[in-house]
Amino acid sequence: MKFLALFSLIAPLASAAVIDIVDKPITYDGYRVVRIDSRGRAPAIEKMLKTLNIVQYNFDTKEYIEVAIAPESLTKFEKMRLKYEVLDEDLGASIVQEGGFFPDSAAARKISPSLDKLVPKVFPDMTWFDTYHTFAEHQQWLVDVQAAIPGNSELIEVGKSFQNRPLNGIHIWGSGGKDSKPAVLWHGTVHAREWISTMTVEYLTYGLITGYNSNNTQVHSILDNYDFYIIPVVNPDGFVYTQTTNRLWRKSRQTHPSSSCAGTDINRNWPFKWETPGGSSTNPCDETFRGLSPGNTPENTALSKHAASLPNGIKLYIDWHSFSQLILLPYGYDCNRQVANYDKQISLAKGVASAVLKTSKKTYTPGATCPDLYKAVGGSTDWMQDVGKAEISWCIELRPNGGGIGGFQLSPKEIKPTGEEMWSGMMYLLAAM
Ligand SMILES: [Zn+2]
Repeated sequence: MKFLALFSLIAPLASAAVIDIVDKPITYDGYRVVRIDSRGRAPAIEKMLKTLNIVQYNFDTKEYIEVAIAPESLTKFEKMRLKYEVLDEDLGASIVQEGGFFPDSAAARKISPSLDKLVPKVFPDMTWFDTYHTFAEHQQWLVDVQAAIPGNSELIEVGKSFQNRPLNGIHIWGSGGKDSKPAVLWHGTVHAREWISTMTVEYLTYGLITGYNSNNTQVHSILDNYDFYIIPVVNPDGFVYTQTTNRLWRKSRQTHPSSSCAGTDINRNWPFKWETPGGSSTNPCDETFRGLSPGNTPENTALSKHAASLPNGIKLYIDWHSFSQLILLPYGYDCNRQVANYDKQISLAKGVASAVLKTSKKTYTPGATCPDLYKAVGGSTDWMQDVGKAEISWCIELRPNGGGIGGFQLSPKEIKPTGEEMWSGMMYLLAAM
């Protein structure tokens, strides 16, 4: 996840999801998170790690590999005599501290099959951003905020997940009326464990709605220029699974006829250059499993159909992820190909980074996915750029910049600061682009 020099060699992407598919909740008690120095021997180390019960955090492994190691594998790991530092002594304790993992709670499994069935309650206040929430609570939140801007918004459902959960969102527009302007399309939580992405997308949505209702001139002019289509949780099955069963689950919950391992990486399944070797996995047990054929996840089918249906094209697409503090442009599938409007996109990305820096002193690094980070094939931003014809197509990796405590388990205290810094970044971008 760390930013690496341009044109550096790309290590073969390997991933290790050695955790068996069990429906018994995993507490991660006693799991130790470590950062292993992998310089010069990443493939060999990754091969060794595959013999342990681990969860891998990062896929750009040229400099280091971050993994959570199960207690029963710690002795074997020590015997490997690798150079490493401990990031978190007890992952289970960090998950408890984070809040939001409810293995025994029926509420965490609950969904509404359709937002039409929900009745708006009160308009949420900022305390929403003090904690993480269940999927059903996110659905109610969408209904509640939409009710505050009824003339300029609608709830949307772009399709269903593998387990038949709705892919819900909100469409907001300005004085030109519904579907009159180019689209700003935001997706959150494609990777189930990246909870801060859900909350950040909602923070931005909340800012647009409260800004509009308080006659903020900047927000009015933004909404007059663009139609916003915002889907905070595009992988609801995986998201629910992270709250009930396995906090570190990344993929969808799609099953495969040929394997006992579940899940497809929806962000390796987009039907564009999908078959390119490297940059995704053909093994259903791996974290970056690309699916059995391009676009064969129901989530992906729904999302690509929705994006292609937007009537005035896509001005800006952002896929919100965590973590590493990066602003990533296409392409992921080919390190030698640059987007045609690279100068414009990179200059805007630098502008976002400096707006963020001014707000929170946090450094976000802009770059292009494959040359600057790692090869990733079948990703959303490549599809949005070339097939969806988005003018700007980014993946933003939110806080923190490193793993361990606060890796995927970012403290709820950081929800608001992360939202604030990205609000500044987006206010710059939406005015400048
Ligand atoms: Zn991600």
